Amino acid sequence: MKAAEVPANEAQRLAALDSLDLLFTPSEERFDRITRIAARVLGMPIALVSLVARDVQWFKSAHGLDATETPRDISFCGHAIHDDETFVVGDAAKDERFFDNPLVTGGPKIRFYAGHPIHGIDGDRVGTLCVIDRAPKALSADQLGVLQDLAAIAESELQRGQLNDAQRELVRKMDELTLRASVDGLTRVWNRSAIMELLSAELKRAKRGMPVCLAMIDVDHFKKVNDTYGHPAGDAVLVEVAARIRRALREYDSVGRYGGEEFVAIMSNASLIPSMKLCHRIRLSIEKEAIATPAGPVNVTVSVGLVQSDPKSADRDRLIGAADAALYRAKKKGRNCLEIGKLDVPA
Ligand code: GH3
Ligand code: MG
Ligand code: MG
Repeated sequence: MKAAEVPANEAQRLAALDSLDLLFTPSEERFDRITRIAARVLGMPIALVSLVARDVQWFKSAHGLDATETPRDISFCGHAIHDDETFVVGDAAKDERFFDNPLVTGGPKIRFYAGHPIHGIDGDRVGTLCVIDRAPKALSADQLGVLQDLAAIAESELQRGQLNDAQRELVRKMDELTLRASVDGLTRVWNRSAIMELLSAELKRAKRGMPVCLAMIDVDHFKKVNDTYGHPAGDAVLVEVAARIRRALREYDSVGRYGGEEFVAIMSNASLIPSMKLCHRIRLSIEKEAIATPAGPVNVTVSVGLVQSDPKSADRDRLIGAADAALYRAKKKGRNCLEIGKLDVPA
């Protein structure tokens, strides 16, 4: 096996990557839709937006792969960032650089790889959009063109940045270890402590202007899903519910996993009526299509408690209490519905 050499501009490249504020952050629909399209259009089981960091390549989006990172010294993308051309390995098992690579001899059993570099704002190659197959392959000129076009879209998304102010503040404040621990390993959304910090920050901002809305979203009868289909199927449901929530929300909203099968959505700069529409959209997107799991398709619904903040108060617990009470009413009402909470008048 031949590990990729470290690029000559490595320090500058890593600084460029760092300045994007994207490394080790939660999944985002704007990247997931690119890997989904790449995999479908090019007929590949796996597509990744990979960022090549100091020691690991880390996946901002991974379609068809459970891993969130691999060591850099065995990565294919480490090779792909050496050139502005698309890096193609037609059959890794017959390539002296890769035939004994653990990603080839073991999971995910890579045979075909094509990765096109994506650049930071100053032109440094910070990562790739790549597609992977478990069989040897070749791409036609048209297919290479598709990959390159999609890589250009991923690049403009990367450069655009999309963290809202509260998220950026949180990401900049945390060191790498804390940041990595702030994303839920299963669903790739913020974990409970991170989403609570974001809520506090949003409420402080809201005191200066537009309110925020908070939604508590809980999967209905989820225990039954585990009991009937098994825990792995339950996990697959949670992953997809998180993805559908993310897809329904606006880019600058935040999603977190509040507990086992309970999610929190923070809609920043949002008043109640548009937030109600967003919540209905979330609820319908989960109800309308069964979720694919290892035990077959599973139908689930969610109940939602929604509450709008009081611009005069940044009291987080009061807001959560009201959303929780609304969620409880939604459950009582028969589930698969939305209830609006009211803030108690402060003592
Ligand atoms: P309700 O409609 O009232 O919300 O009922 P429920 O069954 O959804 O609620 P309950 O709180 O009784 O059950 C939640 C279940 O979620 C219990 C727990 O085993 C399961 N759970 C929590 N975390 C995970 C997880 O990470 N994976 C899986 N598969 N199950 C989980
Ligand atoms: Mg539940
Ligand atoms: Mg629950």
